[in-house]
Amino acid sequence: MDEFKVTPWDVEGVVDYAKLIEEFGTSPLTDELIEKTAELTKSELPIYFRRRFFFSHRDYDKVLADYESGKGFFLYTGRGPSGPMHIGHIIPFFATKWLQEKFGVNLYIQITDDEKFLFKEKLTFDDTKKWAYDNILDIIAVGFDPDKTFIFQDSEFTKIYEMAIPIAKKINYSMARAVFGFTEQSKIGMIFYPAIQAAPTFFERKRCLIPAAIDQDPYWRLQRDFAESLGYYKTAAIHSKFVPGLMGLEGKMSASKPETAIYLTDDPEEAGKKIWKYALTGGRATAKEQREKGGEPEKCVVFKWLEIFFEEDDKKLMERYQACKNGELLCGQCKRYLIEKVQNFLKEHQRKRKEAEKKVEKFKYTGEL
Ligand code: SF4
Repeated sequence: MDEFKVTPWDVEGVVDYAKLIEEFGTSPLTDELIEKTAELTKSELPIYFRRRFFFSHRDYDKVLADYESGKGFFLYTGRGPSGPMHIGHIIPFFATKWLQEKFGVNLYIQITDDEKFLFKEKLTFDDTKKWAYDNILDIIAVGFDPDKTFIFQDSEFTKIYEMAIPIAKKINYSMARAVFGFTEQSKIGMIFYPAIQAAPTFFERKRCLIPAAIDQDPYWRLQRDFAESLGYYKTAAIHSKFVPGLMGLEGKMSASKPETAIYLTDDPEEAGKKIWKYALTGGRATAKEQREKGGEPEKCVVFKWLEIFFEEDDKKLMERYQACKNGELLCGQCKRYLIEKVQNFLKEHQRKRKEAEKKVEKFKYTGEL
């Protein structure tokens, strides 16, 4: 099947990422840019870049040039707090942490409790604020530098309103409707919201780089339409692919289908059972057939999760691929391997999450650097 759909609200089908680059008008993250990143940071690249989990960009070449010339840049990303975070949500934060650490730049993290309240019919304002605190713990647990990382929650960080006003004057209704799909029934708060979301791209008079999944790109196209008229840079972005849910490579891991996701607060034992029961593999109908024909790692979620995040070692990943193809490996063995990796990750994350409770204040952005 090559039919797929990617919008900020919905991802369906098996995404053809090369086609998506054409459709969205972004640029591929080339070997040259990846090598330049390694050269400038004097570092070995993490798997997100080595294995092209990040695959597309806007103006990343300019970000690297600004860094090289000494102008610098800053990072901005965010989280809409409408529920618990899962593994698919947190992986881009690990990539962001790597960028922050290696380039030594400031990072702003916007927690859009206002957005979630306005856009999710059933969510109360109290609920979204509760999730904001909960999600902030997961984000801090990633290990960001507290001196260079500034987390703010829109409903608390009221200074953002002042910054959003000149932006709101630059966006007309049809521009916003084209991106957000507003209708007659849309609430007026929703229509103003794009100005709030664009404001952090102007926090510093440097180029802003947004690392995010590619479905978020349409939001930033809007910013790029008016940024220069306000005397700022068009924001740059690097785009990741999607982390698939346990039950198939179509779409992305979704909080609305809990059995397909591993939440960061899942009990490690339960998470293991979920993977064992639901993870789709590229295995054959019987062990005998698998030994004869080999498995299909290209169709396998277990392999995909190892490739995206859980198998750091390139050599081991390739050996697993070959062993699967040659019929030397059975899916049960592979699932057990992944389960152990996921459980270790969850235990460590949950330990750090607990420690994060004492660090929340340190990360709070007040508008002062
Ligand atoms: Fe996937 Fe492993 Fe089964 Fe191959 S053996 S299809 S990689 S789970």
